[in-house]
Amino acid sequence: MPTKPLDRLMFVQGGVCFFCKQPLPKAEASVEHLLASANGGGNSDENCVACCKAVNALLGSMSLKEKFQVVLNQKGQFKCPNGAGSAKAAAKPKAPAIAKPKDDKLALVIANLKQRGNSKPRTLKTLTSSVSSLFPKGISEADLAALVQQLQSTGKVTVEGSKVTYAL
Ligand SMILES: [Zn+2]
Repeated sequence: MPTKPLDRLMFVQGGVCFFCKQPLPKAEASVEHLLASANGGGNSDENCVACCKAVNALLGSMSLKEKFQVVLNQKGQFKCPNGAGSAKAAAKPKAPAIAKPKDDKLALVIANLKQRGNSKPRTLKTLTSSVSSLFPKGISEADLAALVQQLQSTGKVTVEGSKVTYAL
């Protein structure tokens, strides 16, 4: 078991900075006294964390209140001033493209067309307006075109010239 304070803290923290959670090379690591020694903070592990030297220097002998302020101001994405944490934070995965609402619309359109039995729209124009009428709150031209396109790409609808046939 490591016995030096820094080694112990690094071990407990899994080798990452207490604040920014980035892998912390030993050369960059330092022991931060949460309650600064100047304010009466002790050297016990309870009062110490291992962190980037840069943030340690920044926090210096701030009061606990001020340190909280600094941490909270980072709004959950703490980046130490040396920027080690920035690369990963920037690579934060974006929410996947929102295909779901369109899929729901497509399902709605297909269900409606099925219900129509033999009285389905026979031309592209009437199909488009029928699809449009399914969305009383309105649907953008682009969404409408995308839906008609999806009907074709899923093989539910075949458009030949202006005529439309169905595989429903
Ligand atoms: Zn850090």
